[in-house]
Amino acid sequence: MNIYDTKQIKCYRCGKFIGEVDCDVEIICPKCGPCADPFPSDEIITKS
Ligand SMILES: [Zn+2]
Repeated sequence: MNIYDTKQIKCYRCGKFIGEVDCDVEIICPKCGPCADPFPSDEIITKS
């Protein structure tokens, strides 16, 4: 087994790098901290 067999995870909304996981791990719609917030302040600003 290759211990470096990992893939990089980026936020699916803003593209921010989140971290690395094993390649056999499936992550659906990964989100960074701010994007995981149901009411992000920056989203409110862009709507105005
Ligand atoms: Zn994000």
